[in-house]
Amino acid sequence: MKEFDDDFDGKEGDVEPVLLIPPELHSMETDKPFTHCADCSREMVESFEEYMVQKAVHRGETIFEFALCSECHDEVRQGFSKETVLRLNQYFGLQELADEGLQGCLNCGRRRDDAVSYTMAGSCYGPFLAAGMMICSECQANIQDLISEQTRKSWDDWVGRTFPCAPESEDLPTKRPMLL
Ligand SMILES: [Zn+2]
Ligand SMILES: [Zn+2]
Repeated sequence: MKEFDDDFDGKEGDVEPVLLIPPELHSMETDKPFTHCADCSREMVESFEEYMVQKAVHRGETIFEFALCSECHDEVRQGFSKETVLRLNQYFGLQELADEGLQGCLNCGRRRDDAVSYTMAGSCYGPFLAAGMMICSECQANIQDLISEQTRKSWDDWVGRTFPCAPESEDLPTKRPMLL
């Protein structure tokens, strides 16, 4: 189900309708869209910030979720080693990526309903979704080999600092850098 902003006049046909952030990217805690950055706590919806929402789901249950403003997101990405970034760019550059948005894995095309575990990410702007993507856990596991120790350590440190109560298990995305 797509939700469109009623105030936005897309009926003329010359403007793409703007997509509101869909319920699957809402915060599990509040059942509403995220409003604040998990790291620096700044407000992002009313102030029309650009930010990223990420959510890891296992058997229908959200196990890890957050929204990050673009500044904090950049900082996390900067913790990734050059080697990792290069390998990931190469890897994804060589694949024909499926443009399934939130509905299917960007790598293998598996439908979200058919995936036991997956990660979703939304690139958002205030109350709107600019782009959504999803990667299934199989594909995510395959690309873990491309990730350097330095990147892993930097991710672990960040998760530990930002989400002191995050579940810790080797299988969980808290232990696997979310790459979107
Ligand atoms: Zn922030
Ligand atoms: Zn996949």
